[in-house]
Amino acid sequence: MKKIIVTPGETLAYAEEFEVKGSAYSLDHKYISSVLGAASFDEKTHTAVVKPLKDPAMPQPGAVVYCQVTGKGRRAYQLRCFAVEGQKGPVDLKYTFTGVLPYFFAEGELGIGDYIRARVISTHGPPLVVSIRGATYGSVLSRCPRCGSVLKRRGATLYCPNCAIEVKRKIATGHYTANF
Ligand SMILES: [Zn+2]
Repeated sequence: MKKIIVTPGETLAYAEEFEVKGSAYSLDHKYISSVLGAASFDEKTHTAVVKPLKDPAMPQPGAVVYCQVTGKGRRAYQLRCFAVEGQKGPVDLKYTFTGVLPYFFAEGELGIGDYIRARVISTHGPPLVVSIRGATYGSVLSRCPRCGSVLKRRGATLYCPNCAIEVKRKIATGHYTANF
């Protein structure tokens, strides 16, 4: 099974090669994609299916996503979400999504540059709206605001091995990657 990303107007296949189903139309013995989507070609049955990209690519409410904090707004952290948690761990998204984490759903502090584990609560976007309420959500990797070193976890706090300071962060229990 070959899988490719296709854009609207892109030729998918000649009609004698493949029968194309889904978001495609036929024109001059060719199949043309009508959407930005993912096209799966089954060489054995000579059929292909085009599905719009937005739904499968956009993490749905309840999905666990990994994002980096890119800014702090008046009401929310701004994020860039780049992976979604699969059965065997984080899987990179084909496209990154902008996200927001309202302070209301933060339950603690984060810093710019932090990598976080969060849960999607709304997809009326982009941006995705996420929450880090709950023990297993929050920072999975933070850097020292002073020197940029990766902060190490010591119990419930983060500590810079270089500056010997403690930094307050909402840590994702069981998911923080740098431990003493
Ligand atoms: Zn430091």
